[in-house]
Amino acid sequence: MKTIIQHSTDTQIATQIAIANHGEIKHYNSHIRLYTDQNLDLDKLRQTYQLDFNYLPDTFDFQSAALFVSDMDSTLINIECIDEIADFANIKPQVAAITERAMQGELDFNSSLIERVALLKGLDVAVLNQVYTERLQVNPGGKALIQFFKNKGIYSAVVSGGFTYFTNRLAKDIGLDHARANELDIKDGRLTGITQGSIVNADAKAEFIKELCQQYGISTNQVIAAGDGANDLKMMSIAGLSVAYHAKPSVIKQANIVISVGGLDKMMDFFDE
Ligand SMILES: [Mg+2]
Repeated sequence: MKTIIQHSTDTQIATQIAIANHGEIKHYNSHIRLYTDQNLDLDKLRQTYQLDFNYLPDTFDFQSAALFVSDMDSTLINIECIDEIADFANIKPQVAAITERAMQGELDFNSSLIERVALLKGLDVAVLNQVYTERLQVNPGGKALIQFFKNKGIYSAVVSGGFTYFTNRLAKDIGLDHARANELDIKDGRLTGITQGSIVNADAKAEFIKELCQQYGISTNQVIAAGDGANDLKMMSIAGLSVAYHAKPSVIKQANIVISVGGLDKMMDFFDE
């Protein structure tokens, strides 16, 4: 018997699916669970009803979850920070095009980051604050999710191929326990067009999870990793549970859980008993 989560409380849709698949349904506050022996084509359901559907994973123990690690840009927040910084230099289209290709996995991440950061050379650091205060928003359900994890004793972290200016500030604002990203080099109040230290790429993201697991004495099987881009695939593959959030097709294909319609708080549906 499989359990399918319909991440909406639309009874009509759930009933329709249950009848078609000789299943039963059970109502929860924020979602409906379907129980059936049939194999359902979730992609088809998602397309037909424009809702999020997922199997309740039987390979992950939600009660032993200990750490949530999320990508930042376009996962935990609504923007790609580097594209918005570039907007202040009037080069958003050029930079955004590179970001898009990098997130689709078409470009080497390191060289794409070096290229984009170089284009920002000379920009006043005040734009970082402007991007944060005027354009950056936590994605729907994000703050509730972090609070939910906190209440359950699950640590949370953000890891990003973006920049520490944003990850550190975000971590402070929404109560994340850890943050890691690239450090923009600054001189005389302006961006120098390079980053300091080694680049936080796909390998470094996975490494960050391992480091935190070691620090807390937990297994990577107890980690939930969420992302949307190609540079999240490695960290998602070592985590016990991977979540594709409004993600690129290559990420959706690899993830245990797919959320493409609802907010980050849809992850909470899996914890209901
Ligand atoms: Mg991202």
